[in-house]
Amino acid sequence: MEFPLRGPASLLNVATMRYGCDMHNYDFAIVGAGLVGSAIAYGLSSKGYSVAIIDEGDVAFRASRGNFGLVWVQGKGFDKPRYSEWSMRSAELWYGFSEELSNLTGISPHYQSPGGVHLYYDKKEMDSGRKKLDYINKETGGKFDYKTLDRDSLKELIPEVGKSVVGATWSHWDGHANPLLLLKSLHAGLNHYKVKIFTGDKVHAIKQDNGGFSVDGKSGKISAGRVVLAAGLANKDLAKFVGLKAPVSPNRGEILVTEKMRPLLNLPTTFLRQTNEGTVLMGDSHEDVGFDDGTDSSIMSNIASRAVRALPALEDARVVRAWGALRVMTPDGYPIYQESEMCPGAFVVCCHSGVTLAAAHSKLLTEWISGSDKPREIDDFISERFYV
Ligand SMILES: Cc1cc2nc3c(=O)[nH]c(=O)nc-3n(C[C@H](O)[C@H](O)[C@H](O)COP(=O)(O)OP(=O)(O)OC[C@H]3O[C@@H](n4cnc5c(N)ncnc54)[C@H](O)[C@@H]3O)c2cc1C
Repeated sequence: MEFPLRGPASLLNVATMRYGCDMHNYDFAIVGAGLVGSAIAYGLSSKGYSVAIIDEGDVAFRASRGNFGLVWVQGKGFDKPRYSEWSMRSAELWYGFSEELSNLTGISPHYQSPGGVHLYYDKKEMDSGRKKLDYINKETGGKFDYKTLDRDSLKELIPEVGKSVVGATWSHWDGHANPLLLLKSLHAGLNHYKVKIFTGDKVHAIKQDNGGFSVDGKSGKISAGRVVLAAGLANKDLAKFVGLKAPVSPNRGEILVTEKMRPLLNLPTTFLRQTNEGTVLMGDSHEDVGFDDGTDSSIMSNIASRAVRALPALEDARVVRAWGALRVMTPDGYPIYQESEMCPGAFVVCCHSGVTLAAAHSKLLTEWISGSDKPREIDDFISERFYV
C-alpha cells in the first residue's frame, strides 16, 4: 500500500515536478542512523517531511559511537577554504541547535564553546601552523580569526600546562560536545517527529521505483520519494545502486579516557579535552590499518605520553576506558555531498567531521536535499574531483 507525500507543499511540488510522482510511503528514506543520517533525518522531519531511517545496527562500523566530540574549525580547510566556511556556518548554528535539541528532548548534548587551542611543542612547527591559519584567514575574507598565545598567555588559560609546550593558537570558533548524548538526543528528536526507525536492518539494494526509490532491507521494501545514503563506510558499496561514487576508506583513531579528575582544562585542545563530568579524553591517532577497529598498546602509549607532556597532572591518572574507531575518509579528507545525475532524488553524504557538521547537516543540508539550491560552500564537494 502506498501513501501520498505528507511533506510541506514546497517539497510536494518539487518532487512531483522533478520526479513525476507523489505516491510513496515516505518523502525520504535515510540509510544509516549515525550522526550524519540522524542529523539529516532530524532536520527533515522537523520541517514536516515524512522520514524513514534504516540502520544496520551494532554489527556495522559506527564512527558516531567512537569519536572525540570536538566541534572544531581551527585548521580545517587549509587547501579548500570553503570547507572552513562550511565548518564555521555549522559552528554558528551549534548553540541554537543544541538548545533546540535539549528543549525538545530533555537530553542536552553538553555543547560548550569556550574556544579551543592547538598546542605546540616546537617553535618551527608553530610558525608553520600559524602560516596555515593566516592563509585560511585571508581566503575566508578574515572570517576565520584566531590568536597566537605565547607560553605566558597560554598559562592564563591552562595554568597547569606542561613545560614542553611552547605556545598555542586559540580560536573562538572551537568547542566540544558529548557525541553520545548528541546521538541520543537526535534519536529522541526522531521519535518526537514520528520518524519510522528500522534498526538491525541492513540495506542490500536500492532501486528506482515509481518515480522514487525502493530501499530493500530485512524489513522489506521501503518506498520513498528521495533517498539519502548516510551509511558511513558502507556508502562506498551502496552509492553504486544509484549511479554515485563514494570512495571512502577507514582510518583508525584511538581514544583513552581517564577516571574523573579535578578541573584541569576548561577548554578543548585538538588531542585532549576534559568533559563536564571530569573525565579527560586523549586521542588523535591516525592509523592506516584497514577495517581493524581494535587498539594497539604502542599507539595508546604514545597518546598517553603526549597528553602527559601537555598536562603533567595526568601522570598519575588511571585510564578507565580505551577504544579504536574508524573514520570515514575520502582520498583528500574532505566530504562528499552529491545528488545523482542518473537517479535524481538520490543523495550521498560522507564526512569525517560528523559532530562539527551536525548543525549544518540538520539545518542547511536538508534545505538542499529537499529542493533548494546547494549551499555555495559545498558546491565543489562531489566525487568527480577524485577521477580527473
Ligand atoms: C576516533 C575518531 C575521532 C573523531 N573525532 C571527531 C571529532 O572530534 N569531531 C568531529 O566532528 N568528528 C569526529 N570524528 C568523525 C565522526 O565521528 C564521523 O564524521 C561521524 O561519526 C560519521 O558519521 P556517519 O553517520 O557518517 O557514520 P557512522 O557513524 O559510521 O554511521 C553509519 C551508520 O550506517 C549504518 N549502516 C552501515 N551500512 C548499512 C547498511 N547497508 N544498511 C543500513 N545501515 C547501514 C551503520 O549501522 C551506522 O550506524 C571522529 C571519528 C573517529 C573515528
